[in-house]
Amino acid sequence: MSILQVTNLCKKIGKKEILKNVSFAIEKGDILAFIGANGAGKTTTIKCILGLQKMDSGTITINGYDIKKDFVKAISSVGAIVESPDVYQYLTGMENLEMQASFYKDTNFEDIMRVVRLVGLENRIYDKVSKYSLGMKQRLGIAISLINNPDLLILDEPTNGLDPEGIKELRELLLKLAKNGTGILISSHNLSELESFCNKVCIIQKGKIITENSITELKTTSENKYHLKVDNASHARKVLGKKATLLDDYNLELFADEEGIAQSINLLVEHHVKIYEVIKESLSLEEAFITIAGGEKIV
Ligand code: ATP
Repeated sequence: MSILQVTNLCKKIGKKEILKNVSFAIEKGDILAFIGANGAGKTTTIKCILGLQKMDSGTITINGYDIKKDFVKAISSVGAIVESPDVYQYLTGMENLEMQASFYKDTNFEDIMRVVRLVGLENRIYDKVSKYSLGMKQRLGIAISLINNPDLLILDEPTNGLDPEGIKELRELLLKLAKNGTGILISSHNLSELESFCNKVCIIQKGKIITENSITELKTTSENKYHLKVDNASHARKVLGKKATLLDDYNLELFADEEGIAQSINLLVEHHVKIYEVIKESLSLEEAFITIAGGEKIV
């Protein structure tokens, strides 16, 4: 059973369709990068999952509980930070945590210290939050959302404003949580920051999911960039057409899948172009993403 299953989620605001049949799933230990440009529908999706916004149609289940029928049971296994962490600046980190813990019966000091250690704030937990860096506030926010031991953690744009060190700490923390079986949904418009630690990616564009893949699958099934060195690049460009880009008299660039590059090479040979080199350049997640979106830059 998936920790989170979103199926055909639709949402209109006024006459505007904000979400169009959004579907994806998160399993135990998954870190899913929920990627899209500003206004693509990430926050709206997250708010629907958390019951903060009503959906028009579709189904959302958390640990098998339908949020429309069993909201309390469903939401009891979720921790979330939407927009920015809900922390009080004038309180210490510990006071913030104690306040959150008081909402749950059966949480004790040891439960609080467990999450403090998990996010690595044990040395600063008695300092006022106003003295914390943004990265520390973010980690305190995560600690707060982890107090009830959630199976699903949802973080809306948690890397916003973090410096590279803060991102590194967040990455280490999320990998640790995923290893313990927590499913994580992390939204962002910055692919390069998430590429190194998410195992799944779900891309949303104008309210529609355009791809849901594992990261390795996304890189292998999409087109690759090939660099070709030939004796006459402008002749080769005419033979290959628009899919090739002329770099100089001898060099071209071409986006193609494996079948496509084989056909292009055949075509060049038939037209007596001498091929000196074909180099496959591996795509970053961002480039893979752009080729899937038909060349349209989404973020
Ligand atoms: P961002 O990265 O900017 O947070 P997002 O992907 O989270 O973007 P959403 O906040 O979900 O996008 O917004 C999706 C679309 O819904 C946008 O076009 C936004 O203008 C629109 N929208 C969201 N809330 C409202 C509202 N209350 N009234 C009208 N339109 C809204």
